Amino acid sequence: MKPRITVIGGGHAGLVAAIASAEAGADVTLHEAHTTLGGRARATDGPHVAHEGPHVFYADGPHWTWLTERNLAGPLCLPPARAALRAGFRVDGRLRRVPPAWLVRMVRDRKRPAPVDRSFAEWAGERYGERAAAGAAAAIAVATYDADTGRLSAAFVWDLLHRVFAPRVPAVRWVRGGWAAVTDRLAERARDLGVRVELGSRVTALPDTPVIVATELASARALLGDPSLEWESGHCLMLDVAVRRHPRDMFVLFDMDEGAFHESYSMQDPSTAPPGESLFQLDVPVRAGEPRAEAEARLERFTDLALPGWRDRTTWRRTAVARGRTGALDLPGTTWRDRPAIERGGGVFLAGDMVAAPGMRGEISVNSALRAARGAVTAAGLHPADR
Ligand SMILES: Cc1cc2nc3c(=O)[nH]c(=O)nc-3n(C[C@H](O)[C@H](O)[C@H](O)COP(=O)(O)OP(=O)(O)OC[C@H]3O[C@@H](n4cnc5c(N)ncnc54)[C@H](O)[C@@H]3O)c2cc1C
Repeated sequence: MKPRITVIGGGHAGLVAAIASAEAGADVTLHEAHTTLGGRARATDGPHVAHEGPHVFYADGPHWTWLTERNLAGPLCLPPARAALRAGFRVDGRLRRVPPAWLVRMVRDRKRPAPVDRSFAEWAGERYGERAAAGAAAAIAVATYDADTGRLSAAFVWDLLHRVFAPRVPAVRWVRGGWAAVTDRLAERARDLGVRVELGSRVTALPDTPVIVATELASARALLGDPSLEWESGHCLMLDVAVRRHPRDMFVLFDMDEGAFHESYSMQDPSTAPPGESLFQLDVPVRAGEPRAEAEARLERFTDLALPGWRDRTTWRRTAVARGRTGALDLPGTTWRDRPAIERGGGVFLAGDMVAAPGMRGEISVNSALRAARGAVTAAGLHPADR
């Protein structure tokens, strides 16, 4: 008889936790409320394959090692040839092909330590000037999805800034076929290891332990009856748009004014759009109290810069809002260690992108899932290294 472990949630955190637990010899059941797996990594069915957000991997860190050791991340796409020629920055309302000098200075200063307990706006403003601090905060909204990134911890923002603008090679990777392909590979690996996957199975009370709660934090709060399970996250409006191809369409456009971001999906992975069309994802952080129509108008003005004449070329589009779903953000005085703890006591463990694990966005889900699985496996009387 193998010891039992229950996993609640079938996003990437739940799937990784289930695999790691089963690899250690546990008898695992995973419950997913929806009729499909993947959570926020779900994508639309073709011919336009769009996600909730752009969804890329940074090819470094423990999440990457774990996924690639098991062949679960790839096949992957590299940036298209001549991508640099189609990259740009919006600065003071104008399109620039090279980054502003202040961004280059900040990137070169990567060894300078930034304080945890001060806001990025305050700390960077003193060192690089207010325009540079505001511009860098807007630029890194590509990873925070927050309209006021300057209010976050300087150490948190500084780390993200270097991760995104001076990444360690091989850096950004897109998954061929989109993130749903990763979900499929994780699900196959879990089933091969004997994990029972119960779809359409919303859990309303904590089952016998050990249990790993790998849901969004709001669901975990309700399940554990613990109102303290809260953390800061972003709020953005997204536009997925397919257009008839045009040579002046940008591959990627960063925004030093309002924190918007534009990225191609089909240039690096033609399987995500029908022949002759290009698929793009754009987003802009929503300001506090801002009506959706105003945020949409701002995003459309940004799209004018990224995709000239896009309104007349559009073949498919959709808009969506993501609020509190874009991963953990750390305010001054806090680091990832202060987020809700993974180990809750009594054989209950949390996993997801808002809990106490390192990384950014989906990486937090994978890293926390591995820690949660280690805890659950130990609570079940197994050794995490058992295979
Ligand atoms: C706009 C946007 C852009 C993003 N871009 C990136 C990116 O480029 N790179 C990156 O790494 N990450 C990115 N992310 C973040 C990434 O999508 C998430 O961090 C990751 O998918 C979260 O996975 P998860 O398993 O922790 O949570 P989820 O995917 O939310 O999974 C939780 C699952 O639990 C289920 N569930 C909830 N309650 C219950 C219950 N009571 N019983 C049973 N099941 C339940 C839900 O249905 C869901 O399937 C982005 C997110 C957004 C919104």
